[in-house]
Amino acid sequence: MAYVCELNPGHHVYLDNQGNQTTIITTMGMPGQQQQASNTMTTGPWTAPPEAYQNAGGAIFKLFTAQGEICIYVQGNSVSMTGSVPSIVGAQQLSMQQTTTASTTTMPSMQPMQPMQPMQPMTMGNMQMTMNPMEMRMGDMELKINTTNQESNTVSQAPHPTRQFCSQCGSKVTAEDRFCSNCGHALA
Ligand SMILES: [Zn+2]
Repeated sequence: MAYVCELNPGHHVYLDNQGNQTTIITTMGMPGQQQQASNTMTTGPWTAPPEAYQNAGGAIFKLFTAQGEICIYVQGNSVSMTGSVPSIVGAQQLSMQQTTTASTTTMPSMQPMQPMQPMQPMTMGNMQMTMNPMEMRMGDMELKINTTNQESNTVSQAPHPTRQFCSQCGSKVTAEDRFCSNCGHALA
């Protein structure tokens, strides 16, 4: 069970209780320039939803646990647990909203994705593979696919396929034959 509280626009505090641990995540700043700090404290399991108060100096979160009340003091991204209850006279109580989890995946504004690094050559045993142009090396064997080459060029540069059949009668002939041994057709 997690709770979120907005102290100021762009300044959120998430409280999550899992077993004996209370996790406090503070996020500050506008989306894309967020600073995030996570603190985990041993508080014991909560017995009631936390309460949040805000005064001039920061925010106070009251946790109700089996061991009694615990106060968490949040100033900016700094979080401290205090045994003595700070004065909440004049402090404004903040509403806390229940949220599914305080994990970073459900943050309203995620950290911007880092740009993808260019792909590194992939190595697997004695096999190495790089993309664009595609190259593959496996032992002494090398395979290179240059995508800029037209496929038709590759075909026209290829040696003539071995002649196997006479174009006239269809008899089997070899590449060395100048005439068909069956019908005498000139195998040009
Ligand atoms: Zn023939």
